[in-house]
Amino acid sequence: MEDIRVWWIGERHPVERALDHVRLHLEGAFGARVAVWEGMGRPEEAYDPRRKQWSSGRILSWLVRTAPDGKVLGVTDVDLFIPILTFVFGEAQVGGRAAVVSTARLAEPGLPDERIVLERLAKESVHEVGHVFGLLHCDRPGCVMGRSSSIRDVDRKRGHLCAVCRGRIPRDGREAT
Ligand SMILES: [Zn+2]
Ligand SMILES: [Zn+2]
Repeated sequence: MEDIRVWWIGERHPVERALDHVRLHLEGAFGARVAVWEGMGRPEEAYDPRRKQWSSGRILSWLVRTAPDGKVLGVTDVDLFIPILTFVFGEAQVGGRAAVVSTARLAEPGLPDERIVLERLAKESVHEVGHVFGLLHCDRPGCVMGRSSSIRDVDRKRGHLCAVCRGRIPRDGREAT
């Protein structure tokens, strides 16, 4: 199985602990080798000055052009959008190479516990990388591939793939826990 690269492409300083947290969750969910990777550059072209947000679609194209072969998850702190929605937590190419996830909407003002934000980030990371592995949205209760349009949806999901989704992940002999 290909490695997955986790690449911080945010504006502020990367939160090492957050990236490591994401890495562990991706390893657990997909049984893949996951590396925190530092590439050059930022997807500046994805900024939309009218919306003052970043186009997740343009970030995906940029990641595919910029990251080496294999799957890549861009992690950022900028606010992402797709044209039909106010914001998105992340986006991915289903069955492709690239996914992006943002912390921008995962933290709430006054939220005292950083661990909650890290858990949300891990869930959304597994969700988006699940799409890269070809998974679609899943309605089974608690499955991390459930749709999330709000923080509440994110908090309701568990961090894991349900048995059906897990069974659809191509494996190379290693088992996830
Ligand atoms: Zn999704
Ligand atoms: Zn599922």
